[in-house]
Amino acid sequence: MGAKYQEFHRRSIEDRDGFWREQAQLIDWHKPFNAVLDYSKPPFAKWFVGGETNLCHNAIDRHLKERAGQAALIYISTETGEEKTYTYAELHAEVQRMAAILQSLGVGKGDRVLIYMPMIPEALFAMLATVRIGAIHSVVFGGFAANSLATRIDDAQPKVMVTADAGMRGGRAVPYKHLVDESLRLAQSPPQKVLIVNRGIDKAMPIVAGRDLDYAALRAKHMDAQVPCVFVESSHPSYILYTSGTTGKPKGVQRDTGGYAVALAASMRHVYQANPGETYFTTSDIGWVVGHSYIVYAPLINGMATIVYEGTPIRPDAGIWWKIVQDHKVSVMFSAPTAIRVLKKQDPAFLKKYDLSSLRHLFLAGEPLDEPTAKWIAEALQKPVYDHFWQTETGWALLTGLPGIERHPTKFGSPSFPAYGYDVRLLNDNTGKEVGPNEKGVVTVVPPLPPGCMTTVWGQDDRFVQTYFTSFKEPMVYTTFDWGIRDKDGYYFILGRTDDVINVAGHRLGTREIEEAISAHAAIAEVAVVGVADTLKGQMPTAFAVVNDPAKIATPELRAALEKEVMGTVDGLLGPIARPNHVYFINQLPKTRSGKVLRRSIQAIAEGRDPGDLTTLDDPVGIQMVKDAVTGG
Ligand code: AMP
Repeated sequence: MGAKYQEFHRRSIEDRDGFWREQAQLIDWHKPFNAVLDYSKPPFAKWFVGGETNLCHNAIDRHLKERAGQAALIYISTETGEEKTYTYAELHAEVQRMAAILQSLGVGKGDRVLIYMPMIPEALFAMLATVRIGAIHSVVFGGFAANSLATRIDDAQPKVMVTADAGMRGGRAVPYKHLVDESLRLAQSPPQKVLIVNRGIDKAMPIVAGRDLDYAALRAKHMDAQVPCVFVESSHPSYILYTSGTTGKPKGVQRDTGGYAVALAASMRHVYQANPGETYFTTSDIGWVVGHSYIVYAPLINGMATIVYEGTPIRPDAGIWWKIVQDHKVSVMFSAPTAIRVLKKQDPAFLKKYDLSSLRHLFLAGEPLDEPTAKWIAEALQKPVYDHFWQTETGWALLTGLPGIERHPTKFGSPSFPAYGYDVRLLNDNTGKEVGPNEKGVVTVVPPLPPGCMTTVWGQDDRFVQTYFTSFKEPMVYTTFDWGIRDKDGYYFILGRTDDVINVAGHRLGTREIEEAISAHAAIAEVAVVGVADTLKGQMPTAFAVVNDPAKIATPELRAALEKEVMGTVDGLLGPIARPNHVYFINQLPKTRSGKVLRRSIQAIAEGRDPGDLTTLDDPVGIQMVKDAVTGG
């Protein structure tokens, strides 16, 4: 950890006002703020109070003078073969058309727009158009099922939904509109209007007259639309993004406007060392926080071209990403360990085939970066590879290197140091005291959280405080729900979640949510879901279920059939993303005398480890059943 980093970080904590006042200059303010921070109601932090700005203005309009003809959005679909580049001027026009459509459907300041879209330019138009008119978007990942979508519709109560007929993945059509129809049947308070981008993939898409509207037809009506930005107070919500927690009900992470724009602009300089005019390539999806921050907003706020890629990393071959880097002179790339593990199984010659001289470095996040994967990609790329740690809640990195401030030697498996603005403490979970070097503790942050972080849970201030700020007393801290250690050189290492959240291919899933879905199957009496280590996806959910009638699992054929059915139930309620890799049927779950399921022991056995302390176990039969199930005994 170098002196420049230390000074930068120290100042961000000790001179919060001065530090963030400077960073705030990186964006345009329609009206200047009168205070950097209002922290009169801890832990609620209001950044840049009284200032007025707009995310879309900062992402598009303010660049027009200098960059109207420069590429802003480069769309590449290896699924449909389409490629299209939008300049800043063209993006400006498209976003205004979309904004005019939304306005014509009655969307105004503070209204919600739910976006359920594949990776196509119109998805970004919709996001940018929503914030342009002061409305609030809620993007839901396309892999979620109708039921999950309905829960989010009911929580956000959108005025309009924007979707497409279908997406494509691995050459197969993935229906979107179909799912939307089902979700609208399930939702208690469905929106009146659904705007559909018809890509011509799902020819059998049903249309509900009066509710479903064709984007192309409406766009044609608004070709010359001029829709000025609605400037909003800095703390006005820009979006809601749902994430899993330990309860079955997803939390709507709410983000502000001014703080988010400043945080993203600052991160492009200090973290990613990304320059205006260059090209940024994030391989995530707009349905995740990484997509929100680093496919859409940060690259555009920074005056860059952003790559919007629809496809997998290995189609048409495993060189596709590196071809994109070469063809579009990508300077900074952002991906996830799971994707690199997929590439690692392919021929490394693909990495050598393309000219990667434009690439400055690669950032990875979303899950622990294992050493073999980190080594493989660093050697294959011959470029610096940075692991960094963050969450949907933080919106940008919490632990990271800062090559834009000072290059530092990285350590395999470590996301390096606390980012500026984060006063990170590792706390002993029993005593609440800070742990020493190489001792395990919970990663926490002394509030106020810096700009860009979640400001509350949508509509549930109490839940925000209760969930994130009550794990420890005196001082009150924000908990990440991650275990970590810090070595004697100050490098942090993340050891996994402290709660029942698992990480599948970089995506967060609550095991309780999956348990609830499995329990919805009529044959299931009780179930425990645990995350089990997986070489490709990091973790996979594995279920241990008790049936209410043993006759249903009397033969191997019946078991196999029921397992398939249960997986189908999960697909239907949560989406294939949450489907367990195995559903083992046992007669009894291992529980403590007080009736708590011993999830950690089940997980240990499923991973082939020692189940640990079993003194609280009520009946050893359950544990034996789990053992027999996983070993096939
Ligand atoms: P999400 O909110 O879906 O982005 O998931 C956030 C969670 O992913 C964190 O709380 C961590 O458990 C995990 N995570 C993200 N980045 C890293 C990383 N670089 N190393 C280890 N775990 C990570």
